[in-house]
Amino acid sequence: MFQLRRLLLLLGLLGLVPGAFADPIAIAIHGGAGTLTRDSITPEQERDYLAILNTAVQQGHARLQDGATGSDVVRETIRLLENSPLFNAGHGAVLTWNGTHELDASMMLGHNLAAGAVAGVTRVKNPIEAAYAVLEYSPHVLLSGAGADKFAESQGLTMVDNRYFTTPRRVEALELFRAKYEDKKAQNGDEKFGTVGVVVLDTSGNLAAGTSTGGMTGKRWGRIGDSPLIGSGTFADNRSCAVSATGHGEFFIRWQVASDICARVRYQGLDLLVAANQVLHDELALAGGEGGVIAIDPKGNVALVFNTEGMYRASINAAGEKVVGIYRSHAGTQNKEQDLSDG
Ligand code: ASP
Repeated sequence: MFQLRRLLLLLGLLGLVPGAFADPIAIAIHGGAGTLTRDSITPEQERDYLAILNTAVQQGHARLQDGATGSDVVRETIRLLENSPLFNAGHGAVLTWNGTHELDASMMLGHNLAAGAVAGVTRVKNPIEAAYAVLEYSPHVLLSGAGADKFAESQGLTMVDNRYFTTPRRVEALELFRAKYEDKKAQNGDEKFGTVGVVVLDTSGNLAAGTSTGGMTGKRWGRIGDSPLIGSGTFADNRSCAVSATGHGEFFIRWQVASDICARVRYQGLDLLVAANQVLHDELALAGGEGGVIAIDPKGNVALVFNTEGMYRASINAAGEKVVGIYRSHAGTQNKEQDLSDG
């Protein structure tokens, strides 16, 4: 290993391996976690998910290699996932109890702790762009509801009819949810969380994180989850790490999952993976909170950790190692308890 490094350095000096001295870059993506087993996903769906995750991670990584900022790459990558009907974000978002869509998104930059978020927006095509506009062009961190849509419109963002977000699959999911609810079995543990999130380390050594979601099927009364809440579903700080979460928001809010992982890295000096495993398995799982996180540190280490049966995920770390997977048994499972039972 040591010999190889020396060889690379030498070749780098001679200009033969252009990347030998490059600044580390890394990217990780999630498309939600939950009861994802080989029985619950058709081979076609599996192929489609793996294909878009692969495209997203490759494109994002290529942009980082070209020197794009973390902020740009987070937005571009999330936009791609929001525009896909496969994920619970943007087009393809889940439906509220009333059969409409209320979307949440957030972004944070690790070099200056700038943050922006929107909650309960109904008309902006790409909620991550609205979150970014709040970060960049407003004095605020979190805007909600009609006001947030109005702000997005004033920033020149593309607005759509609320029905643009609807897909047949989510209509079916709402019908099922309502039927189960009436049957008093709404919480049957068959949850799938399809939120999307991206964390990156760019060539300037800056971390960035973003998350976008439709929330949870059948939500009502203006319910807001963890995704637009800085510290809960999204966090980035160059002194520790960047995190995006997916899962049962009510738990992620109370356990402050994203910032807790980074606090363990910063104040306890823990490795990123150890910190993420502690929070997801030792804290959250014991309390009954289901979900997962993607996390990245300033060296370009990546952690993909979930306490559910699967998590749509993809990453390329600073060493160039790529992971694309859904189930526990897929490569890149980094959970403390490696249960490969769905093999
Ligand atoms: N965390 C999101 C929420 O609670 C749901 C998800 O991750 O799919 O709104």
